[in-house]
Amino acid sequence: MQITAEHVIQFIELVAARVKEERDFLTRLDSAIGDADHGVNLDRGFSTVLTKLPSVADKDIGSILKTVGTTLVSTVGGASGPLYGTAFLRAGMSIGERFELNASDVLAALNAALEGIQARGKATRGEKTMIDAIAPAVEALRAAIDAGDGYLDALRKTVAACEQGVQDTIPMLATKGRASYLGERSIGHQDPGATSALLMARAMLAVAEGAAGA
Ligand code: ADP
Ligand code: MG
Repeated sequence: MQITAEHVIQFIELVAARVKEERDFLTRLDSAIGDADHGVNLDRGFSTVLTKLPSVADKDIGSILKTVGTTLVSTVGGASGPLYGTAFLRAGMSIGERFELNASDVLAALNAALEGIQARGKATRGEKTMIDAIAPAVEALRAAIDAGDGYLDALRKTVAACEQGVQDTIPMLATKGRASYLGERSIGHQDPGATSALLMARAMLAVAEGAAGA
């Protein structure tokens, strides 16, 4: 299956719509272990991204993703703005001036995004952040592609690993970001950033299913 620039635009639009739907839920999660702004932050960012999409609609995939990244850096704020912004920028840099991707290109882009988030935020797995959702997702995608799965099956496994990663944040002690200020009281709550990362993984799958007519 080929992933086109149009699919990437659909993905961004779907993320923006889902972020709006889930805004209050994400913010509620962030009110338990943060400052109750994660959903509001992301909604502000992706609403601005939507206004930029017409100007990149006929551009290559790298340019589209880099525009998303710079917009998120300048509008989301908080910890997650620079982190998601860097993720989209790095994914865009990994893809470059291309209009079609295969599954391995998507894996390379997601891996570049993960490395960008880690370089910027210095978090590793087990610290109760978005890394705990994204790293297992990237790992599952790599394993599925290596095993010869088609793109759709590989993405289904990616989403399943991401869902497990989000669940796994609940018993974790936060040692990065605002939630770490709570110490032991951060235990027992689902991480908001991991949850928004899952929303994005699900949007990738939904677009791929739509494209495949599945
Ligand atoms: P803030 O914490 O500044 O209010 P947000 O509420 O928008 O920012 O985002 C909080 C989320 O950011 C957390 O749930 C966590 O997943 C993520 N996060 C915070 N710090 C880091 C970090 N150093 N590395 C990776 N993710 C982080
Ligand atoms: Mg917050």
